[in-house]
Amino acid sequence: MAETIFSKIIRKEIPVDIVYETETVLAFRDINPQAPVHVLIIPKVEIPKITDLDGKTHGQLLGELFDAANKIANDLGIAEDGFRLVFNCGSNGGQDVFHLHMHLLGGRKMTWPPG
Ligand code: AMP
Repeated sequence: MAETIFSKIIRKEIPVDIVYETETVLAFRDINPQAPVHVLIIPKVEIPKITDLDGKTHGQLLGELFDAANKIANDLGIAEDGFRLVFNCGSNGGQDVFHLHMHLLGGRKMTWPPG
């Protein structure tokens, strides 16, 4: 699959507001925030979507995405009140960018069911 805008963000060719970075993971503020805190947490390796994952190959990396979410939630002061993590997958899931990403949303009360 062709690379996405997130590859350019990883290579720092497009500026974003980075809140967390390791060798394997990058997290930055969403350009179109849906909550007071809306951060995208992505692996630096190109994985298009959830259905391209398997636990044996990607277990470590998935753990790092969740570690990043916890650290960012703490750093941005939303851990105690709670937050929502979302992976959209495919067209029915509402995925627009085909580079795996976790949405971290917080700073307001979330509603359920999601739209
Ligand atoms: P999804 O709809 O789950 O694929 O989410 C893609 C997200 O990427 C959307 O929430 C967009 O607002 C966000 N996005 C797209 N381009 C950028 C960008 N250049 N910087 C930050 N966020 C972006």
